Amino acid sequence: MIQRTLSIIKPDAVRAGNAGKIIADIEKELKIVSLKRLHLTKAQAGAFYAVHAEKPFYQELVEFMTSGPIIVMCLEGEDAIVRYRTLMGATNPEKAAEGTLRKKYAASVSENAVHGSDAPETAAVEVPFFFSTCELI
Ligand code: ATP
Ligand code: MG
Repeated sequence: MIQRTLSIIKPDAVRAGNAGKIIADIEKELKIVSLKRLHLTKAQAGAFYAVHAEKPFYQELVEFMTSGPIIVMCLEGEDAIVRYRTLMGATNPEKAAEGTLRKKYAASVSENAVHGSDAPETAAVEVPFFFSTCELI
């Protein structure tokens, strides 16, 4: 099934100048439907990761996600959600498989280079969080 998913290149990877390499890796697997660079406010980052509001790392996560610009993309392709999660690798880069984005570009479990929607229901909320209908042609 053709799906759409939300990808974020997080502030650590943008800061390190790895965005171009990450985009090139993504383009080998999936189509980029829409892309933009922005700097989240604390309220925006907090709302985006609201599902983690009760976690001990929430404050750290919001601080990190607002520490610099990010690049957000809507990706499309056959089974895009699970395929992009596979390309990303495990949340903890020490556990990420060889060749994955987190293995190549992430420094730690908190600063882990990329985000991807984890299920169709999540993608259905996360894509419109960043992109309007007119931006998703
Ligand atoms: P993402 O949602 O960013 O794609 P994920 O789905 O692999 O990552 P989640 O469990 O949803 O992992 O956690 C969201 C983000 O919160 C992680 O990507 C990471 O940046 C941060 N995080 C998760 N666990 C920890 C932790 N134990 N300590 C610090 N930060 C964490
Ligand atoms: Mg997640």
